[in-house]
Amino acid sequence: MHPINSWIEIPPQADFPLYNIPFGILRRPDGSFRAATAIGRQVVDLLALHELGHLHIAGLDRQMLANAVLNPLIQAGKPVAQALRATLMQLFDVSNTVPSLREKTAAFLVPVEKAEMVLPLDIRNYTDFYSSKEHATNVGSMFRDPDKALLPNWKHLPVGYHGRASSIVVDKTPIRRPWGQILPKDATHPIFGPSQALDFELEMAFVVGTSNPLGTPVAVERAEEHIWGLMLFNDWSARDIQQWEYVPLGPFLGKSFASTVSPWIITLDALEPFRCAGPMQDPQVLPHLRSEGSRTFDIALEAWIQPQGSTPTRICQSNFNYLYWNMSQQLAHHTSNGCNLQVGDLCASGTISGTEPGSYGSMLELAWRGTKPLRLPDGQSRTFLEDGDTLSLQAYCQKDGLRLGFGTASGTLLPALNQPA
Ligand code: MN
Repeated sequence: MHPINSWIEIPPQADFPLYNIPFGILRRPDGSFRAATAIGRQVVDLLALHELGHLHIAGLDRQMLANAVLNPLIQAGKPVAQALRATLMQLFDVSNTVPSLREKTAAFLVPVEKAEMVLPLDIRNYTDFYSSKEHATNVGSMFRDPDKALLPNWKHLPVGYHGRASSIVVDKTPIRRPWGQILPKDATHPIFGPSQALDFELEMAFVVGTSNPLGTPVAVERAEEHIWGLMLFNDWSARDIQQWEYVPLGPFLGKSFASTVSPWIITLDALEPFRCAGPMQDPQVLPHLRSEGSRTFDIALEAWIQPQGSTPTRICQSNFNYLYWNMSQQLAHHTSNGCNLQVGDLCASGTISGTEPGSYGSMLELAWRGTKPLRLPDGQSRTFLEDGDTLSLQAYCQKDGLRLGFGTASGTLLPALNQPA
């Protein structure tokens, strides 16, 4: 039985039931940073809870909760985080009536709407995969040839590229429309100007929790031991810049101007009840990438668009389990040459599209490269994102009366600068 009832009020359909226990970083009004979790509509300051004497956990030091990032807590290992999660579920269970806890909530509870959540990781490396067959097929059809949409390598390895870690920002950070080189239609020479094809990509990213030494690959069946948790990830993309620059070495400035993550990391432990199998892989993959059993999770994904001064509209419903390549295969492939992944590294999934048009995870696909504009309820239409639009990603798992969510990864698009800096 999952612990559901807490003495903290938890609204129905809440992202953060007592069972979830996500981890993030809270910035207090005095400028200090604390590791935090969320329960219902409350953010829980874990440093404050520790100082009240409620977190006696082997391997957990006060200092791990007093950083601007979660890396030291993650570095401590999964057993520490598992014990911390179990302790928090006990402390806030409805049956726990310890007066010293219930009477001192002002010291450690912050209402979600008043809590400033910051980027919770020092991300030294970020990799973006391209693991949705539907997305890769759609993009390949548009950018190249519908008959050769998937390149010959695609079903044999999880294609990916090294992305830019420094421009990853947290939920609610405004995004500036980038300038770049663009080849106008029917032109032979590029221009330099603001992107006219600003897009989002609906993705999830996993957080590396255990490093592997340089030169030491991680076997596919052990890969999950290295994965600490998942976040929502929006890989903002300037399609016009991307299309001109991507040959032959792949995405560069069309992607590196910004990516947005949700503030909370959901642990693999919390996701366990939602474990499931992914799609059949045909042809069979090479032995070092062959993964057995249920190696993905049933996570419903949504993208919402809100034009300035208007209401939000859901434009996409997809699922994490649509991905052709699972996280274990991605991590095994990434380390198969001996590359060392490090604590806090992020590996994003690639845009997660399904087979139906309503499940496409980017404007490029939803509006089919501008040929099928999306109609919004307020009468506006969109082919790509416009200045003032807020794009928000959401995710949740639901099964047997248990529901948990991931928070949001949102961002509002700011107009391009008049002149690039
Ligand atoms: Mn991407």
